[in-house]
Amino acid sequence: MKKKIIVLPGDGIGREVTSEGKRVLEEIGRQFGREFEFGEGIIGHEAIEKTGTALPDETLEKLRAADAILFGAVGHPKYDNDPSLPVRPEQGLLKMRKELGLYANLRPIRLFDELLGASSIKPEVLRGADILFFRELTGDVYFGEKGKKNDGQTAYDMMIYHAYEVERIAHKAFQAARARRKKVTSVDKANVLESSRLWRRVVQEVGKQYPDVELEHEFVDAMAMKLIQQPRRYDVVVTGNLFGDILTDEASQIAGSMGMLASASVGDSVGLYEPIHGSAHDITGKGIANPLASILSVALMLEISFGWKSESEAVVDAVRQVLKSGYRTADIADASTPKEKILNTRHMGDRVVIQLTQSTVPSTH
Ligand code: NAD
Repeated sequence: MKKKIIVLPGDGIGREVTSEGKRVLEEIGRQFGREFEFGEGIIGHEAIEKTGTALPDETLEKLRAADAILFGAVGHPKYDNDPSLPVRPEQGLLKMRKELGLYANLRPIRLFDELLGASSIKPEVLRGADILFFRELTGDVYFGEKGKKNDGQTAYDMMIYHAYEVERIAHKAFQAARARRKKVTSVDKANVLESSRLWRRVVQEVGKQYPDVELEHEFVDAMAMKLIQQPRRYDVVVTGNLFGDILTDEASQIAGSMGMLASASVGDSVGLYEPIHGSAHDITGKGIANPLASILSVALMLEISFGWKSESEAVVDAVRQVLKSGYRTADIADASTPKEKILNTRHMGDRVVIQLTQSTVPSTH
């Protein structure tokens, strides 16, 4: 049966990188006899310009009817530099997560050995690091009550968690740990925050149902340090929306670059797949963005939404082979990379597609 995929390129480099992700999906379709039907929707700055809202109902309807969503990024300098604008691109993203019930954001921190030199962290600290983050996505300060006082001198965003929100993501983390190294690290700030004490209590209760999985707790400030000091200590990490947002950007250094990190957002219905990076205004339109995070997001889609493990592995292997052959985008190149091996966005996508045609044994389903 055809899988219906909605591509939401969004803003900035979103379109550049999702184009390459889509090409890889098409190639997987050819190689493995899978059929996809593609549609497109608008979100973010583009949607505000065209409709006045960051997530039009028409887009939302398309998303609800999809089997999976391939998303780029939202954001535009106009809004970053003017906090007074009432309608903002990020509202589209938050609304989409809430409306679709996408409460769990999975961020695998996968380090390709070929990129050991691209990180600012020492190779001997990094080698072997393999972490799966679960960031809660529909609660916390992003969705709590917010406001500002009339005097313009005070503003607030309430950090709020309900037990059921913690419980459902904790189950996902423990279940994932069972298929990995059987360890969950829960990150909070329970020494100071009431919402974190609730978080910790609920995670402990859920943990009792998984006696075969080791559970440890870290305070977020200590975690920020240990994550790059001893990344190999961690297997599955589960944390709230704000802490997860910050820690996973930090963890991108374990994978070499923001341009390498893919993510999956799952919950009640359709899954959404996107790079963790934003719209990267500084490189938009130059054609140099790294498309590998979008391509690796496609690998997550194939496995998580469709259960197609071989197809997913084929994509990851193709990326590994391309890196092994020495090809790099500028963000993951180092002093030893020959100039002719530094590729633009399109050519990096070409390399992955060519690799897929060379290494995949076609099968019929
Ligand atoms: P960013 O992730 O866009 O960029 C941070 C740095 O990483 C930049 O120097 C950028 O050039 C580089 N980078 C990011 N992706 C890259 C890629 N694929 N290849 C090569 N280099 C890459 O974060 P920012 O600069 O803080 O934010 C820019 C805009 O993106 C803002 O408007 C912000 O609100 C938005 N944003 C959106 C999302 C999202 O849509 N999920 C996430 C984060 C930020």
